[in-house]
Formats: sequence, structure tokens, C-alpha cells
Amino acid sequence: MTSAMQTSEAIRRQYLEAMGITQWERRTAVTPAASAPPVVATPDWTALEDAVRSCTKCALHSTRTQTVFGVGNRRAHWLFVGEAPGADEDAQGEPFVGRAGQLLNAMLAALNLKREQVYIANVLKCRPPNNRDPQADEVEQCEPYLIRQIELIQPKLIVALGRHAAHSLLKTDLALARLRGQPLRYQNIPLVVTYHPAYLLRTPSDKRKAWEDLCRARRIISETATP
Ligand code: URA
Repeated sequence: MTSAMQTSEAIRRQYLEAMGITQWERRTAVTPAASAPPVVATPDWTALEDAVRSCTKCALHSTRTQTVFGVGNRRAHWLFVGEAPGADEDAQGEPFVGRAGQLLNAMLAALNLKREQVYIANVLKCRPPNNRDPQADEVEQCEPYLIRQIELIQPKLIVALGRHAAHSLLKTDLALARLRGQPLRYQNIPLVVTYHPAYLLRTPSDKRKAWEDLCRARRIISETATP
């Protein structure tokens, strides 16, 4: 701006002030306070684990013993997703370590897979009291952690164990019976829906159908990669 322009701008302001007219000026961007925590949109494994460990986004943080992040090979081809930690998982900090976990290990062994080869996680990272079903708000707050885990792992295939995992990942409320056997995808990753191991403990007659689901999963993965 030239000095002549600056002078006329000053005169204009004086007139406006004299007429009682307020001048609104564009503010410069407000920089966040130095103490504000950085928002990490795409955390790496360490940042993600820290975020989960210190999470207080839903009420479950006040009843948990500890968070249950996930376990296994972070470059796994197979990702198994359950519902939420139970009492054993809450006590040990690892998913699927109770009776349902033993059955999951047996299912993995039948596929010739060791627990360390695959990745195992849950939709919820904290135990719901008395093992009640996850609530919608808890899923909403917690599922970004699972979504980021999937982004980091980039599995070749996801096995949704039970309806809660299937509903959360597929954003549907279709019955499990309607989802089993269907060609499904989560973000372009093939997804197979099968029964939750805890259900299979109560209904062993459905184990054969679960085995069919896992054989289908193995066929899908063998078409895309070596397991
Ligand atoms: N059931 C689940 O869904 N997840 C676990 O980790 C244990 C039991």
C-alpha cells in the first residue's frame, strides 16, 4: 500500500468512527495453545497402543482392569475380529485367552495356523460389565482403533467372529445367517462372517458350519496370497 493510500484509509476510518460504524477486520489464524495435545490422525502402532491404553472416551474405562489392544503378527494375512474382552481377557490384557479363546486356537490349528501367525483383535478394547453386549455409543467411540489396526496390518482377509464384529465392520444389521457364505468386503478386503467361538461352545452342533466358513476363508486367501 502506498503512503497516499494509507492516509486515505486512515481518513476513511476516522469518518467511520465518527459515524459510530464498527469496522470488522479479518483476524489472523489463532494458533492452538502450546499445551493442547497433538491430534494424530494416522497414528503408528506405538501411538495407537498409547491412545488405547489411556482411552477414556466411553464409560467402560471406569470398570476395566486394563485395555485389550490386540495380539499377533502385525503383518498377518489373516485378521480375526471378535466382540469385546471378557473377564479372562480383562485380567490378562490379551484377546481370546479364555474358553472361547481355546476354541479359537483349535480352529486356527485346524487351519494349520498358529496364534502368532495371525492377528486377533476385538471391536471393543474394554470389557463391558458382566459381558453384556456392546452398546452403540461404545462401538462408535472404539471402532476407530480397530479401523486403524486394519489400515496398519493390511490383512488379506478378515474373519468376523459373530454378529457384533460383522455388524460393526459391515455397517449392517442383517442376521448372521444372512451374512454367512456371502461374498463380502471391508474396504476392499475380503471378509468372511462366521459364528463367535463362545456361541459355538454353547451350540457345538454349529461347529461344522463354522468349519465350512473357515474353509471358504482359506480358499479366498489362497487365491490372493500364500497364507
Ligand atoms: N470374546 C470376544 O469377543 N473377544 C475376546 O477377546 C474374548 C471373548
